[in-house]
Amino acid sequence: MARTIYNFAAGPAVLPDAVLEQAREEFRDCRGSGMSAMELPHRRPLFKKIAAEAEADLRDLLAVPDDYAVLFMQGGARLQASALAMNLAAHGRYAAYINTGHWSGGARGLADPYINVETAGDAAASHYRDIVPPAEWRFDEHTAYVHYVANETIGGVQYHETPECEGAVLVTDMTSELLWRPLDVSRFGLIYAGAQKNIGPAGMTIVIARRNLLGKPLPITPPVLDYRQQDEAGSLLNTPPTWSWYIAGLVFKWLKAQGGLAAMEKVNRRKAARLYDAIDASGFYTNNVAPRARSLMNVPFLLADSALEPVFLEEAEAAGLANLHGHQSVGGVRASIYNAMPEAGIASLVEFMGDFERRYG
Ligand SMILES: *Cc1c(COP(=O)(O)O)cnc(C)c1O
Repeated sequence: MARTIYNFAAGPAVLPDAVLEQAREEFRDCRGSGMSAMELPHRRPLFKKIAAEAEADLRDLLAVPDDYAVLFMQGGARLQASALAMNLAAHGRYAAYINTGHWSGGARGLADPYINVETAGDAAASHYRDIVPPAEWRFDEHTAYVHYVANETIGGVQYHETPECEGAVLVTDMTSELLWRPLDVSRFGLIYAGAQKNIGPAGMTIVIARRNLLGKPLPITPPVLDYRQQDEAGSLLNTPPTWSWYIAGLVFKWLKAQGGLAAMEKVNRRKAARLYDAIDASGFYTNNVAPRARSLMNVPFLLADSALEPVFLEEAEAAGLANLHGHQSVGGVRASIYNAMPEAGIASLVEFMGDFERRYG
């Protein structure tokens, strides 16, 4: 038996054991075809069936309304941050961006060449340790859309409620949180999420968009980034990331087998509470995010004595707790605890933290 490793990486990140097992079993022979899922032509019936099942399961999990397109795209969240501006620019004079950290600022910059961007709210005063409450967002009727990042993966700052945004087209980057709990998709104009955090392997990005917003892309929009064209082609305008799509499909089936997103939410809340409780109960570890904005997906924390950080990370790695380093831009420790992180992984981390504190605190 291989030693159990708990992988706390922010992304690419841990996948469910059961999914990896199934992928291994089918690796050389996908559903009796004698071929690996990696080898299937994307326009032949077997891949089309796998793709359609994945889409149906995702629609089911999130109760996606029928008037929304669900796209399986390439390019990652960064490319979609540009593509969404190209697709939605015709709807207003400018786009309103809420800045709550690294990925919000990044998304604004990536849209900037294609639409006038304005900052409609900024968490700078909190040093990006808090959200900007929707009541403080400032934009008018000329905005094409309002963009926010639901979960700032690096800062560990998360919106716990979907913002009330009456009359505006709400756009969100859910790369590090989509599928952690049920969601009312109808509140959004567009949702995008890189797969490599809470969905599946790297290389795929999911875009969910209200169809009546599509079809007016900027003339410079490359066809593969035109959401209307991709919707009409079933995301098969170009070769899609077939392997990632297949694995994501297995993840969707696994989520359904766990009881769906309501069941996942319960487990995810328990996991995060256990870790934050351990941090708050100690004088040795601290998390500086405002309590109302603490992320249930990415939990960054600091040690009272920062000189002990490398020792902590090294000993954790040796104990099978992998990839706990914070993002290179901020350092510290960060535990990413997406859907596929089992509760036993949290228990193991909390036990290690207690033990480390007793020895070094
Ligand atoms: C990781 C991440 C990204 C970047 O994704 P790429 O696919 O590498 O472009 C964007 N937004 C958020 C919230 C992320 O966590």
